[in-house]
Amino acid sequence: MLLKDKVAIITGSASGIGKEIAFEYADQGAKVCIADLSLEAANATANEIIQRGGVAMAVAMNVTDEAQVDAGVAQVVAQFGGVDVLISNAGIQIISAIVDFKFDDWRKLVAIHLDGAFLTTRACMRAMIAGGKGGTVLYMGSVHSHEASPLKAPYVAAKHGLIGLAKVVAKEGAKDCIRANVICPGFVRTPLVDKQIPEQAKALGISEADVIKNVMLKETVDGEFTTTQDVAQTAVFLASFPTNALTGQSITVSHGWHMQ
Ligand code: NAD
Repeated sequence: MLLKDKVAIITGSASGIGKEIAFEYADQGAKVCIADLSLEAANATANEIIQRGGVAMAVAMNVTDEAQVDAGVAQVVAQFGGVDVLISNAGIQIISAIVDFKFDDWRKLVAIHLDGAFLTTRACMRAMIAGGKGGTVLYMGSVHSHEASPLKAPYVAAKHGLIGLAKVVAKEGAKDCIRANVICPGFVRTPLVDKQIPEQAKALGISEADVIKNVMLKETVDGEFTTTQDVAQTAVFLASFPTNALTGQSITVSHGWHMQ
């Protein structure tokens, strides 16, 4: 068990990649907090983990709400005794050309990805420093932390921004043994991606099959989607790595869609 008794808060973990990380972390002995918008959905995931013999709790947390973030992290400290790992994973996608992009949509997306990363980082760093045992912060970046695609302006901007934030956390956190890294997945079949297949087909004027073949998988080495399991294994590796040698980095997990 690589994460025995580590306390991990995973945002956006009632679905997709975050949910898989929560399952994998629990299997590796971590106590996991499922933090998501809906308490009902978070509870359902926490209960699935508990039924498999893991340790989990649920909190309702909109990552853009300062009070909810601070209260949710305080609840985890009260119940599990501290925080060892934050996975800032909550995210959305909105597809549109820049010339048609609604300012409200830009602000909504950037707030979830960047305000959410900042607020959860601040609350968890405070808890980690108070606990005196250091910790790990992982951001869910994307191949779009390194490359651009049309129709995704705020997403690409925000995902690039996470790399900057991770580098600052790595520098400021080092004295307290807090490390920060970014995981950059390629396309993973989750609700976030399933929703954008028809949207991209419409915006680009191509078929849904062509979106999958020529947009999502064309640059991969094997024509394969990245899986939630691929990402979860990387998240275990990064949180269990023992020294400050691996901090301020981004690791791409994309079947070669992007190569650094
Ligand atoms: P998903 O839609 O399956 O899950 C996202 C979760 O985030 C949902 O449970 C949702 O309720 C939650 N969420 C949304 N807004 C929130 C908020 N304000 N506060 C708290 N929770 C909120 O999507 P996913 O594909 O699992 O995406 C997870 C992360 O992985 C995102 O940051 C996404 O950008 C990133 N990512 C996804 C892919 C992919 O291909 N699926 C690729 C690279 C990166």
